[in-house]
Amino acid sequence: MNVIDFRSDTVTQPTQKMREAMANSVVGDDVYGDDPTVNELEALAADKLGYEAAIYTATGTQANLLALLSHCERGDEYIVGQQAHNYRLEGGGAAVLGSIQPQPISEGENGSLSLEDIQAVIKPIDPHFARTKLLCLENTHSGRVQSLDYLKQATALAKSKGLASHLDGARLFNAVVKQGLNVKTITAHFDSTSICLSKGLAAPMGSLLCGNEAFIHKARRWRKVLGGGMRQAGVVAATGIIALNEQIDRLAEDHDNARYLADKLSGIQAFQIKQDYLQTNMVYAELNYAEPSKLTAYLKKHGVLVSAAKTTRFVTHKDVDINAINKTVDLIKRFFVEEK
Ligand SMILES: *Cc1c(COP(=O)(O)O)cnc(C)c1O
Repeated sequence: MNVIDFRSDTVTQPTQKMREAMANSVVGDDVYGDDPTVNELEALAADKLGYEAAIYTATGTQANLLALLSHCERGDEYIVGQQAHNYRLEGGGAAVLGSIQPQPISEGENGSLSLEDIQAVIKPIDPHFARTKLLCLENTHSGRVQSLDYLKQATALAKSKGLASHLDGARLFNAVVKQGLNVKTITAHFDSTSICLSKGLAAPMGSLLCGNEAFIHKARRWRKVLGGGMRQAGVVAATGIIALNEQIDRLAEDHDNARYLADKLSGIQAFQIKQDYLQTNMVYAELNYAEPSKLTAYLKKHGVLVSAAKTTRFVTHKDVDINAINKTVDLIKRFFVEEK
């Protein structure tokens, strides 16, 4: 039985073309800079996002950590959202490994950080304070697209205060496809950007950090320090080239499927769709039912993986289609009928 998995867009299987590219990849030792496939991927990413250089990393967490370690020194701080991945979900790596202090602030409307709040936490230059060095933003944020206007204003504010800006763009291409923009229109406002190849873009692993030459040079040193210097990494980098060249436009399908799923779920009384989150490939729904784990177990028994909770997140991706969605919604309906 084929499992239908809504837990995340990280669960995708590599495409057949990716598997063939892996088998046929031309590789070398990337720590010596000798892997032509890694070099091609890094050049492709830098070119696509409009930066001088890029570095291939094992994970998005590693790419964000390299950004923090390369923008900040010991005793510096970065401004970041309370719910941001690179504050909340990366094990405190910047503090653990870089002696870099986070300055989290609560997200406001649509997951953005208000300009007033950003301004208010930037510290004066004074021995009492950590040195505020960097603003980190995330796009998309829990499936929500950050407007270009907002990104421009927030990064302009950072720049006017002498701060650098980093964009955690793990799902940046979902925003790009949704807005019909060239990705450079967004990245032009940031000193660095990280992107994930292993989410909606279907590569089995890998992320990229992009920035100017000097910054990526620094990041390359930190990647080695973290144990992230890989050898014949072209074997997987080959899938990243396909991800960037062929998997971006189809994200529109995932967005359509999320809308379709939300529409179907809204016919089930226990689910209340959070419409303001319904922007790209994620459906957030309040679940008005006391034992979500029972629903999770029932679906799992029938080959559907969903992490049901008070707020349940469904993520669409290339390995769930309309049939999978219909089957899932039918199962959920049956569950609630049987529960009565
Ligand atoms: C997934 C994700 C990352 C990094 O994820 P890895 O699992 O380490 O590859 C970073 N930021 C955001 C917003 C993410 O969703």
